[in-house]
Amino acid sequence: MTVVRLPVGGGTPEGTNSAYLVDERVLVDPGPPTEAAWSDLRTGLEAELETLSNLEYVVCTHWHADHVGLAPRLAETCNATITMGERDAPLLMEYAAEREARLERDAAAMTDWGVPGDVVTAVVEGDRPSPLPDATPVESLVDGQTIAGLEVVETPGHTAGHVSLATDEALVLGDAVLPTYTPNVGGSDTQTRGTDPLGTYLETLNRLLAREGVESGAVTLRPGHGETVDPERIEAIRDHHDERTRRVETALEERTVATPWDLARDLFGDLEGIHAKFGAGEVAAHLERLERDGAVECEDGGGYALAE
Ligand SMILES: [Zn+2]
Repeated sequence: MTVVRLPVGGGTPEGTNSAYLVDERVLVDPGPPTEAAWSDLRTGLEAELETLSNLEYVVCTHWHADHVGLAPRLAETCNATITMGERDAPLLMEYAAEREARLERDAAAMTDWGVPGDVVTAVVEGDRPSPLPDATPVESLVDGQTIAGLEVVETPGHTAGHVSLATDEALVLGDAVLPTYTPNVGGSDTQTRGTDPLGTYLETLNRLLAREGVESGAVTLRPGHGETVDPERIEAIRDHHDERTRRVETALEERTVATPWDLARDLFGDLEGIHAKFGAGEVAAHLERLERDGAVECEDGGGYALAE
């Protein structure tokens, strides 16, 4: 199967998005909902396809706007079907209603993590709706299923319903593994709160590494931002998280009881806007991992302390 990367720019802090065209039938992660990105995507597709109507499926690895943003427009233009992992699908399918629910969930999560009320309000009010339809038809994908010859591999952690797509020679990874920065875990999808998102994510990394051809480099790893990633990068991200877990534990030793927000400020300094959610969520994910391992305990009132 052929996998062609189409760089789609404009509108994301992580840099240029990577859309992937597979066998001229499937487009994975069309990109952010901006005119600049749409122009890049169209130009890329028109160079590869005889006609846009050859496209059968638009697959989105996860619900973040820089990945799903152009999906409704592309699907309508090509008369294609949109598909996503089943936990993430509702966030595009019922965009307007799910956005309201997500903002409430984000606020509740941040409050639990000890983020002050004025910061919570600023994060929620700073969330601008994406130019997406209130509702969009989306079909759900589950692990192991095949779609137009592509194997669906559930890769949760960065979001609850994140999926990757596999051919014999390539793995299209979305934000499960990125070449230059570490995908946020914990704050990037508050659906994962309370479910040990970091443990889930580390399991995802282990499952990816265990797939045939990944460690040897026979399978090309295709990230959602950038061109390729080395298999060593998966191990590096795992090591990074182990190191950060130790830093969270050390920061907690310096205090008697602390919330994820306290520790996030100890580790990362001032956190403004969306970084308050990402930082506190990331620390909360490490604390959940430590709690699962029996190293810390969650106290009444939401603070954490080292286990006796
Ligand atoms: Zn993402």
